[in-house]
Amino acid sequence: MAMNEGVLYVVATPIGNLRDITARALDTLKRVARIAAEDTRHSRKLLAHYGIDTPLIALHEHNERVVTETLLKELHSGADLALISDAGTPLISDPGFYLVRAVRQAGMDIIPVPGPSACIAALSASGLPTDRFVFEGFLPARQHARRQRLEALRSEPRTLVFYESSHRIVDCLADMVEILGAGRAVVIARELTKTFETIKAGSLSELVAWLLGDSQQQRGEFVIMVHGEQPAADVAMDPEAERVLELLMQELPLKRAAALASKITGLAKNRCYERGLELKKAN
Ligand code: SAM
Repeated sequence: MAMNEGVLYVVATPIGNLRDITARALDTLKRVARIAAEDTRHSRKLLAHYGIDTPLIALHEHNERVVTETLLKELHSGADLALISDAGTPLISDPGFYLVRAVRQAGMDIIPVPGPSACIAALSASGLPTDRFVFEGFLPARQHARRQRLEALRSEPRTLVFYESSHRIVDCLADMVEILGAGRAVVIARELTKTFETIKAGSLSELVAWLLGDSQQQRGEFVIMVHGEQPAADVAMDPEAERVLELLMQELPLKRAAALASKITGLAKNRCYERGLELKKAN
């Protein structure tokens, strides 16, 4: 540890249930000279709940550079500081990157105090493969950019993890149906650790229908986890789906036939395309 310099603690806080905070997080938040928080009003409620009155300073994307300068000076003068966000682990789709990078570049110590993160909590209960996964955070808000991102992820074999808010949950899943295929397995984790916690698994088209059928389920905060694309050889094609594809291929170019077969059968477009190629070769 550098002599006479303070330490920056990066502290995870609850994602809903206030009891999901570690003893070490509470000790740290009590002990430091100051806590940098995304929204001080929001964090004051958590701190008040635990009787902690450590001074707060706001650190969010609009003031991160200026506040980082202030905090660097405090660390240099020997004060220990903590960084928290509104929920979960700082820097995971939350502010703090600029500060943490600057403190590391300045050669001072940064100690994580681990705890909740919606991504990990959701994955742990999803039933999807978790040996390898890709955390994508929020997809772009604009549809064109969102679709482009999904196109780029279509053949990703690892489990995909997205964060989404209530405003875009339906649009986002509708785009996934079109681009990843209606039959792709998905798990939605909504309002984790809160009163209306719901974890729902199904195909993309089933979950869109479920959300549209119950507007209550569109409220709150979501983690969307999508099964990675399975290698073609592992997925036997349903004989009926194959018949549809073959019939379409008799009338249409392969790309078009695969796109239509995907819409009719719910299988991923590239799965239909690859099977089409195999059928062509076999004939
Ligand atoms: N830093 C946080 C973490 O470690 O999970 C994430 C912060 S990000 C700004 C907020 C997003 O995380 C929400 O829109 C939602 O996608 C997800 N999220 C946070 N809390 C959640 C919860 N209780 N249930 C489901 N998703 C949650």
